[in-house]
Amino acid sequence: MKESCGVFGIYAPGEDVARLTYFGLFALQHRGQEAGGIAVANGERIFLQKGLGLLNNIFTEEMLQSLEGHCAIGHTRYSTTGSNIILNAQPIFISHKGVKLALAHNGNITNSLFLSAQLTDLGLTINSTSDSELIGLLIAIQDGEDIVEKIAKAMKSLKGAYSLTILTPDKVIAVRDPYGIRPLCIGKLNGDKWVFASESCALSLVEASFVREVEPGEIVVAGEEGLKSYKAIPSPRKAFCIFEFIYFARPDSYIEGVNIHLARRRMGRILFEEGAVEADVVIGVPDTGTAAAIGFSEASGIPYGEGLLKNKYIGRTFILPDQRIRDVGIKLKLTPIVETIKNKRVVLVDDSIVRGTTTGKIIRMLFEAGAKEVHVRISSPPIAYPCFFGIDTAVRSELIASRLSVEEIRDYIGATSLKYLSLEGLIRAIGLPKENFCTACLTGEYPEEIPEHFHKLLLEQR
Ligand code: AMP
Repeated sequence: MKESCGVFGIYAPGEDVARLTYFGLFALQHRGQEAGGIAVANGERIFLQKGLGLLNNIFTEEMLQSLEGHCAIGHTRYSTTGSNIILNAQPIFISHKGVKLALAHNGNITNSLFLSAQLTDLGLTINSTSDSELIGLLIAIQDGEDIVEKIAKAMKSLKGAYSLTILTPDKVIAVRDPYGIRPLCIGKLNGDKWVFASESCALSLVEASFVREVEPGEIVVAGEEGLKSYKAIPSPRKAFCIFEFIYFARPDSYIEGVNIHLARRRMGRILFEEGAVEADVVIGVPDTGTAAAIGFSEASGIPYGEGLLKNKYIGRTFILPDQRIRDVGIKLKLTPIVETIKNKRVVLVDDSIVRGTTTGKIIRMLFEAGAKEVHVRISSPPIAYPCFFGIDTAVRSELIASRLSVEEIRDYIGATSLKYLSLEGLIRAIGLPKENFCTACLTGEYPEEIPEHFHKLLLEQR
């Protein structure tokens, strides 16, 4: 199961925690549009509401009002494996051996097959096909004095990526895998109330101030006694997902102190240094190519233009489910602004090429709109390896850069010229040490061994 999602958590007695979670999730909607949910606890019980689709299709005022309590978690889900059923929506609720919890997960567990066999052998019933239920059950079956000890023990058996928010009847807990692959940060609200979120943009929306990131291997508990931190398992090294910087995170978020928009703008600047070209206008593929296009324009002196209009009402969901829909999707999603493009030598900046299909269609659209030349500049290195840690790019065979050289890709997408940002350029643009990143999608160097069956599944099948 590949998914990359948004998670949120809040401990705030006296506040309308369901509503704040709803707003927090709104700021994380870009991380998942296929399902969403909120769980609230009032000291004794946990209440849960979830559904399929965008948040404003799921929640009504009545639903939010029915969720009363002082702590809450929420989730937005992004899934592309055809299993977008309500059972897989999160948060998931677990009640087992006296343990009651709700859990929201961002990431991907790579030893899920092994864990599910282990849990089934113990006689447990697994209701969903998502890893997140496995994590919840694994926590519930552990011996331990308290929930923190149970979580810490469960973490020893988990492989892969997990940023979690967990709700018990009276606490909210944030957990991050020992590599810190997916983001998770802590915010403070009105002095003594606490917020956890995948990205800092969700803290700003609920007017919480950023405190710090949850550390790799750390468990952070927000409860009656304030905020408590436990180093649950040692971190072999940091391996933060570089694709969050390239594509996934929202431009107004800060990760490790670095603003995503500024990092992408620097990527565009360095992309010009590495791939200069004479042209009349620089345009970006909205939204994720925009910042790099501005940077390219700043560095080159070539004017930036609005060349593609994105239909705001489509959302990312539309292009996801399958190839047929993807084909129709592009025309509904993007329209050329002819006046910017006609008779111009165009630099088209985008953040990444995955399968090459969308990019090829955009280029065709630009030529049809009268572009004389289309020079494609990509603000990441070629994506040649699948992600096993929660970003849905594609299986290896679908990744165009796993099969074709840069020149062959240029020919396939029909560009006048094509240049990718180098890995060194990307790292320089972000400004953090290379050793702190997972660059597996670009280099094939995975921070942790991928179990054989999982590797095979994602390399060969879809
Ligand atoms: P393609 O030419 O079909 O490979 O599509 C490239 C476009 O897909 C770029 O505009 C990217 O911003 C976008 N993209 C990259 N990763 C993803 C993803 N995980 N889900 C949806 N779109 C993506």
